[in-house]
Amino acid sequence: MKVETKCLHSGYEPKNGEPRQIPVYQSTTFKYDTSDEMGKLFDLEANGYFYTRLQNPTNDAVAAKIADLEGGVAGMLTSSGQAANFFALFNICETGSHIVASSSIYGGTFNLLGVTMKKMGIECTFVDQNLPKEELAKAFKPNTRAVFGETITNPTVSVFDIEKFARLAHSHGVPLIVDNTFATPVNCRPIEWGADIVTHSTTKYMDGHAVGVGGAIVDSGNFDWLAHADKYPGLTTPDDSYHGIVYAEKFGKLAYITKATSQLMRDLGSIQSPQNAFYLMNGLESLHVRMQRHCENALAIAKFLKSNDKVAWVSYPNLEGDKYYDLAQKYLPNGSCGVLSFGIKGGREKSIKFMDSLKLASIATHVADAKTCLLHPASHTHRQMTEEQLIEAGVAPDLIRLSVGLENVDDLIDDLKQAFDKV
Ligand SMILES: *Cc1c(COP(=O)(O)O)cnc(C)c1O
Repeated sequence: MKVETKCLHSGYEPKNGEPRQIPVYQSTTFKYDTSDEMGKLFDLEANGYFYTRLQNPTNDAVAAKIADLEGGVAGMLTSSGQAANFFALFNICETGSHIVASSSIYGGTFNLLGVTMKKMGIECTFVDQNLPKEELAKAFKPNTRAVFGETITNPTVSVFDIEKFARLAHSHGVPLIVDNTFATPVNCRPIEWGADIVTHSTTKYMDGHAVGVGGAIVDSGNFDWLAHADKYPGLTTPDDSYHGIVYAEKFGKLAYITKATSQLMRDLGSIQSPQNAFYLMNGLESLHVRMQRHCENALAIAKFLKSNDKVAWVSYPNLEGDKYYDLAQKYLPNGSCGVLSFGIKGGREKSIKFMDSLKLASIATHVADAKTCLLHPASHTHRQMTEEQLIEAGVAPDLIRLSVGLENVDDLIDDLKQAFDKV
């Protein structure tokens, strides 16, 4: 099936007489007839539900849809995109591990890697993702356990060269994890380019209507943990908390997600609520239609901004002449996303005046939902960063992040025009 059909049909196939839409299994627990049956679940000897902190049928149906959309073998939902990225990394890292990550990633993930995981003794080297392979190779250490980047970075909308980083990661015997939030599997499937694990903030386009915070992790099943057993003891040596199970031996291609569910979700408990998973299911059904319109509108607005003499610069990867145009043609030929960034001549103050003059587009700490919104990262999401960190992350002090929604594009352009008139 093509991706459009999968958006509708993957993950949940009702049998004769069953509900057409996935029911919300609003239940903390699940009942068993015998103690033995329940015991088998705790030994990971049988498949089944026992407590929603670990797994819930509504969530699993939605996770299966996302896994199928990405071309992976298994997936899981988390309570947020932050939890997804933390779980994706912590599932294969421990104190003493090292990560190589793009310095252009989302501010929240930058903090997770640079501050919070550092306190756990997991170090991260941030790299300029545009450097050649030979330069990037210098960031690797004997204790490197993963490489991390975003298909399209938030907020600078830079395109990540997935194939280059997959080769680099694999030549060092570690997996590549790609956060595919902005592109969504409709526009790019990182696994097809060599990524091993894909993460999402489902809060964004997948939900699409700004109703539920959530995350997802998908495993390709392609990384051979046993071939690098010394690096990944959590997957290749007995787990004492599950009677000595060795995940990579017992579960094969499903090892990574099984461990993340049965160990990390059990102990850290960051599951998505089944009600939110239900909203997410609804969002996913129209993802392919919405992404197309987001991209068309964003390209039209990028062209409008580019031709406006009050605009200093515009970044949108599908705009001809953009720094990332060639990479976008390769990885995102059908469109990238609805987010673009630009700067207004006159810097920070003019940018703020412009934003405050908009009537239709709203100021919101959000991106990638149906209604147009915008944000000034230097005063909002990235305000804890120093000037040097901002520049290292490629976030210019005048950068405005515009998330183009599904409105009629002429109405959006009229709104931008009247705000420019006030600057
Ligand atoms: C928003 C976002 C996150 C964090 O997701 P939450 O759902 O807000 O926790 C992670 N990565 C990217 C690329 C994002 O845009």
